[in-house]
Amino acid sequence: MLSYSFALVASVFALPALAGFQDFGIPASSSTVDIKAFNVANFTLNNLAAVLVSPVLPGRESITLPIHAYLIQHQPSNTTFMFDLGMRNDPQNLPPGFAGLFDNKNITFEPFKDITELLQEGGVSLDSIEMVFWSHAHFDHIGDMSKFPQSTKIVVNEKTNLTIFPDFAGSDLQASDLSGHNVETVDFEKAKLVISGMPAVDFFGDGSFYLLDTPGHLVGHMTGLARVTPTSFIVLGADAMHHAGELRPVGNFLNNFPCPSEILEEASKAISTDFFWSTKSAPGSFDLPSRAQPLFSVSDIAGSFYVDPVAATVSVDRIAVFDADPDFFVLFTHDASITGVLPYFPQSVSDWQKEGLKERSVWLFIDPENDAFAFSPA
Ligand SMILES: [Zn+2]
Repeated sequence: MLSYSFALVASVFALPALAGFQDFGIPASSSTVDIKAFNVANFTLNNLAAVLVSPVLPGRESITLPIHAYLIQHQPSNTTFMFDLGMRNDPQNLPPGFAGLFDNKNITFEPFKDITELLQEGGVSLDSIEMVFWSHAHFDHIGDMSKFPQSTKIVVNEKTNLTIFPDFAGSDLQASDLSGHNVETVDFEKAKLVISGMPAVDFFGDGSFYLLDTPGHLVGHMTGLARVTPTSFIVLGADAMHHAGELRPVGNFLNNFPCPSEILEEASKAISTDFFWSTKSAPGSFDLPSRAQPLFSVSDIAGSFYVDPVAATVSVDRIAVFDADPDFFVLFTHDASITGVLPYFPQSVSDWQKEGLKERSVWLFIDPENDAFAFSPA
């Protein structure tokens, strides 16, 4: 009877579904890291949206995306490291297959300062960067390691193919990306923890920073899980997804983070009901609260930027469980929806929960004025 009454009350008042971090399999700890974000560059993928997401609406075939990188300070040891580096600013010097994407204008960008310039201008010496984590070995994440001192270590998933061009013709890597740097690998086969269904490695052994196995985009793709206070976390999803529409909405997410009424009203008119539907939608009036699954799915066409779209979808689903929880803030490298509100270096993102950043940002992607909006023909 008691449980029946509680269920009734819960349904009447739509109580948020809350889970503590321990319910995700994360051990308790008071050790933390601090995270500062950079948007290194914006690049436009011309006629390439369909290799990222589905559906792509008429006029939305090209997509402009930021490239984020993160400076992370391990508080207990005062160690500084990077999670991804963004893209080098001389892509003509990439291996030929990738340089060609720029020569052929498949990818275009405005000139920009690379992460080494941004760090040094901000007073962070490259000597102080002890490690660089590569979420995966794509050119827009590995920067130009030849500009870092040889003392900077590279940390990658054990499964990452480190064969350089031309020994592996499809490799983003060339000799200068690895030369002189120690490479440490993370072996998820030996992982002792499982967090939200993902094999997890407690990198420093103190609960401050975990690496999660998130395959699908590329073999060896991994996600960072950073404890920024004893009970709140930032998920560095890297390229596990490329658009907030691949994550949202899922059921718990809508309960915990209702869409602000002003965005909801505009979005209900702007989201095309010829392409998106939900049980309470009517033609020309999209009803978000009754939408049961994310608006976008992972691209599975030939040439998809996800080498294994099925595995990628599972990784997205696992990260979406964090996304739906009030103690986790999910960032991913190419999130175009968030660039107007995310605090950038030298500011820290670690106070996201106290500052209400998640509430202010998670529905921006369906605002017709937002850079990420792609839900109506253009
Ligand atoms: Zn990327």
